[in-house]
Amino acid sequence: MQKSQLLLIWHQQGNIKDARILKAFEKVPRDLYVPREYQQQAYEDSPLPLGHGATISQPTTIMLMLQALNIRPGNKILEIGTGSGYNAALLAELTGKKGKVITIEFIKELAESAAKKLQQYKNIKVIYADGKYGYQKEAPYHRIIATAACQEIPDALIKQLKLNGILIIPIGPFHNQEVIKITKLKTELKRESLGGFVFVPMR
Ligand code: SAH
Repeated sequence: MQKSQLLLIWHQQGNIKDARILKAFEKVPRDLYVPREYQQQAYEDSPLPLGHGATISQPTTIMLMLQALNIRPGNKILEIGTGSGYNAALLAELTGKKGKVITIEFIKELAESAAKKLQQYKNIKVIYADGKYGYQKEAPYHRIIATAACQEIPDALIKQLKLNGILIIPIGPFHNQEVIKITKLKTELKRESLGGFVFVPMR
């Protein structure tokens, strides 16, 4: 099957309504971010190992998270868990040249290899650090997305989110996580669930 057909099927299976998501997926070659030994599976709708206990997330799960993140061109976005760099590339496509993506990874080898692959994106900065503390230097952010699961929402991420900003984060213990969407309103944090998923834990 052609890659473009597969992407369309993912888009339909995930019940994704946002056409910009499909466009971003068409633009970014997933095989570039998948390790050599898994190239045959690069266009299967499944997570794949990156080594160091990390995985490149399942495409339909990413689509769902990106749709909920509702990125507007020019948004400043923080990602926790760079991994392969694949999701960072998708974020960069969605926010465009006027936007900026800061992505944090705490495994040095992964941060370095992702930074190399993402070199063509002038609007992405890869930071080797612990993402639990966010990245104050570039705060506040219009959007924050974590691709590793936490027991609780780190305070720093809420603090570094702009008013009316959106945070997407998997919360819960290993193998029993819920992806949560937080919207930072003036008087409260609005909390919605996107459903149950499995993610690498945030360490
Ligand atoms: N977004 C990635 C998926 C990464 S899986 C992609 O598109 O490929 C989750 C990643 O989060 C792993 O690479 C893991 O090393 C990283 N991670 C886990 N805890 C972290 C922390 N506290 N700070 C930064 N990165 C973390």
